Amino acid sequence: MTQCTHCSTPWSVRDKIRRLVTFSQGLPCPYCGTIQYYSLKSKIRSSYFIFPMLLFFFIPGFLDTPWQLHILIAAVGLFVTIVLQIKTIELSDKEEYPF
Ligand SMILES: [Zn+2]
Repeated sequence: MTQCTHCSTPWSVRDKIRRLVTFSQGLPCPYCGTIQYYSLKSKIRSSYFIFPMLLFFFIPGFLDTPWQLHILIAAVGLFVTIVLQIKTIELSDKEEYPF
C-alpha cells in the first residue's frame, strides 16, 4: 500500500497516477504537503517492469505478425506496465540513490 511517510495517509489511485505523470523528483503529499519521493526499492522494482515492456515492443517485430497485432500486444504491455507501476509505488521522505 502506498502511504505518506509523514502522515501515514494512504494515497488514492488518482494521487499515484499524478505522482507517475509528474516529471519532478518530489511531489507534495495531497494530505499533509510533505514532499514525497519514490523509494529506492520502488525505483528498482519499476526498472524490472520496464524490461518486459521492451520485450512486448520488440519481440513481435522479429516474428511474422501483422502490425495490428503488434500494436495490440504493445498496447496491452504498456497498460499492464502502467498498472503494475501504479500498484507498487512506495514513497520515501528523502531522495534515495542506489550509489
Ligand atoms: Zn502526508
